[in-house]
Amino acid sequence: LQDKKYQMRNKIAAGNWKMNLTFAEAKTLNQSILDHQIPQDVKVILGSPFPYLAQLCELSKNNDKVFVAAQDCSAHGKGAYTGETAAQMLQSIGVDYVILGHSERRQYHKESDTLILEKIHQAQSQDLGVIYCCGEALEIREAGNHVAHVKSQLSESILKLDAAAISKIVIAYEPVWAIGTGKTASPEQAQEMHHEIRNTVAAQYGDEVANGISILYGGSVKPANAKEIFGQADVDGGLVGGASLKSEDFGEIIQSF
Ligand code: PEP
Repeated sequence: LQDKKYQMRNKIAAGNWKMNLTFAEAKTLNQSILDHQIPQDVKVILGSPFPYLAQLCELSKNNDKVFVAAQDCSAHGKGAYTGETAAQMLQSIGVDYVILGHSERRQYHKESDTLILEKIHQAQSQDLGVIYCCGEALEIREAGNHVAHVKSQLSESILKLDAAAISKIVIAYEPVWAIGTGKTASPEQAQEMHHEIRNTVAAQYGDEVANGISILYGGSVKPANAKEIFGQADVDGGLVGGASLKSEDFGEIIQSF
């Protein structure tokens, strides 16, 4: 299982449950995904609230296609940081991934790319996979600055990693204006940005590293649009919020590659 986390260029359907579900609901949803026929070359990641992680890891441990993610971790290793959760704690209960830099953390918790980079270092030091989120707000897209904005997020965070470390990162491009709004980027808009992101990685680390990285699209992915978005050349899957809370919808998304 550990090695599968870092396989090159996977098809990935990742769910981000955010602050939703009771424990009973989370276990039921997790079980229904475990029972789902997941295509051979698809990896599923479930981003659960902290209190449920240990149990979900236990439930999922014998399934080599379903992985468990936390939605954040601390930038510190351990100590007097009340309310925070260390990467080492996540590692010690069997968590596979951590979602870092989600736009809701950036917006509501004022997370900067500098802080996110510290969290990435913590996560990687504990052998956790990282799903690094980036993306522009509506006014930035309307001003035509979306590519420059995302490139600057990358250069202040993951482009500071060495080649071995960046190779283990899963990137999620999530235009903020499409998250939870019902508005989805068009397949062309997603492809344009994913291509820019891959080219930016290639310019610094070379084609082999860039072509090995999985880049997910996030922003109102649902069964009706998943196939077209996932069909784009540089889109390797999705980070899914709302639709990941319904097992039927998420099940359909898993089949959309
Ligand atoms: C997300 O939270 O990462 C997300 C993309 O949410 P939604 O699918 O609900 O837009």
